[in-house]
Amino acid sequence: MMDELSNSVFRIPNSSVSILGSTGSIGEQALEVAEHLGFRVCALSANTNIRLLEEQTRRFRPTVAAVFDEAAARDFAVRVRDLGVRVASGINGLIEVATVDGADIVVTAVVGIVGLRPTLAAIQLGRRIALANKETLVCAGELVMGKAQEHGAEIIPVDSEHSAIFQCLRGEAASSIKALMLTASGGPFLGKQQGELLCVTPEEALKHPNWNMGRKITIDSATLMNKGLEVIEAVHLFRVPLEKVRVVVHPQSVIHSMVEFVDNSVAAQLADADMRLPIQYAFTCPERIPSPTRGLDIMELRSLTFEAPDLDTFPCLGLALEAAKSCGTAPAVLNGANEAAVEMFLQGGLSFYGISDSVRGALDGIGCIPNPSLDDIIAADKSAKRFVYERTNVRRGT
Ligand code: MG
Repeated sequence: MMDELSNSVFRIPNSSVSILGSTGSIGEQALEVAEHLGFRVCALSANTNIRLLEEQTRRFRPTVAAVFDEAAARDFAVRVRDLGVRVASGINGLIEVATVDGADIVVTAVVGIVGLRPTLAAIQLGRRIALANKETLVCAGELVMGKAQEHGAEIIPVDSEHSAIFQCLRGEAASSIKALMLTASGGPFLGKQQGELLCVTPEEALKHPNWNMGRKITIDSATLMNKGLEVIEAVHLFRVPLEKVRVVVHPQSVIHSMVEFVDNSVAAQLADADMRLPIQYAFTCPERIPSPTRGLDIMELRSLTFEAPDLDTFPCLGLALEAAKSCGTAPAVLNGANEAAVEMFLQGGLSFYGISDSVRGALDGIGCIPNPSLDDIIAADKSAKRFVYERTNVRRGT
């Protein structure tokens, strides 16, 4: 009833979506939002979670469903053979999902650089990208933003910080920006010193105080690498120099980010920490319609606090800023090395500081290519991952 009401009162500009990574945390919430808005879901994709993908396929009846893993895709095809859905696999499957007929919006919610080619394919069709795959802009920001401009594709951020900045910047000229202030919760280890973090376990690092997210991004929040990747993402998305992006630790996660303008006015976006809101805004903007999220109770907000990030305890943030300053493929090396190192940390093969040591090693050890092509970027990612896996396995004696 609520949905019928809201759809009749509020004009919704687009009406069909395709979701890359529909079984992940953002993907599931994107489906919830699509259902709330009454959008058609044209295509879905999963990495290996075919049980959940089957459930989603039965519920939303997409035209195409892709499973990245080829063997899992074959099992999946058998499970859904009664539905008449086209089943695809591998990177071509993801590209099919990104370019499926009839989708106005493509949600890129896969984790890692695997999202890059499908995102570019959707951009080439001029589709709106609801961008939740930060690796796309971190590794290939120049290339992706250039293609988006060329093909008239809108890139609307889903990341809560970038959505906040995007909302603060509506109607503002680029020349009005003095600084973008990305807020960071600080993660589960805020206030700790290096010595206290030498032996932390994946379980401890996975306990995020404010946000319920996927495992990779939760570890990135604990190391502050997530904020570093977001700085690089912001530089490309909002076309501002690195010097204009600042990181502010704000443990309450109520202000999702701020923009300071040249007249010293600061605009902020505040909301409950619920990703369904930035997802919905990416779907409906410039319109706003009622959302299923909890309203912000201003009277409950006793205090909002801010502090500078501790770069000694959390070296990953500094490494990201360094890669952002450096040329060409450095951010792809940073991101690839971090992806591999986080995976090894979660498996118990690296310590907490083994993550930043691995990224440091990869940045120092792998040459940087200026003005990289797509192939250069993908090769840099591969070299960085290989660098981390090889060194970690040597240390483990395998
Ligand atoms: Mg974020």
